[in-house]
Amino acid sequence: MYKSKKPYHYGTGRRKSSVARVHLFPNGTGSITINGGTVTITGGLGAEGDGNRIVVGPDMMTSIPGLYAAGDCTGGLLQVAKAVYEGAMAGSEAAKALRKGGFYGG
Ligand SMILES: Cc1cc2nc3c(=O)[nH]c(=O)nc-3n(C[C@H](O)[C@H](O)[C@H](O)COP(=O)(O)OP(=O)(O)OC[C@H]3O[C@@H](n4cnc5c(N)ncnc54)[C@H](O)[C@@H]3O)c2cc1C
Repeated sequence: MYKSKKPYHYGTGRRKSSVARVHLFPNGTGSITINGGTVTITGGLGAEGDGNRIVVGPDMMTSIPGLYAAGDCTGGLLQVAKAVYEGAMAGSEAAKALRKGGFYGG
């Protein structure tokens, strides 16, 4: 099996018939594949920030469609309960958006 010589972070998420795979190198490049469709990340993700926090809407989506943030990186209370709530909110809102047709007309 092929093994990359560069260190990278890899994650997989699954819900019903949808599978998302995230493959990120430490310099912020990589790819996100959702059900076989791949978005290549060519640099830092570039979501809008405010000071040291990432700006999100009430559904936890950042300024980049389909990119969600949750927890300490969104600012406010730095508590586990808030991070878990926001993570759950981001997950369920992402699933809702995917059921409605996704973020890139897919
Ligand atoms: C000493 C201490 C005590 C605390 N005590 C409490 C408490 O009693 N009760 C409470 O509710 N909260 C407490 N907190 C706050 C709580 O830990 C955080 O609010 C919570 O962990 C935030 O969750 P998170 O998922 O946003 O971030 P984190 O739990 O910090 O998770 C972020 C993860 O991202 C990883 N990461 C960072 N950068 C990168 C990168 N570039 N690439 C890949 N991975 C990366 C980190 O290694 C980490 O695993 C405490 C915090 C500290 C520091």
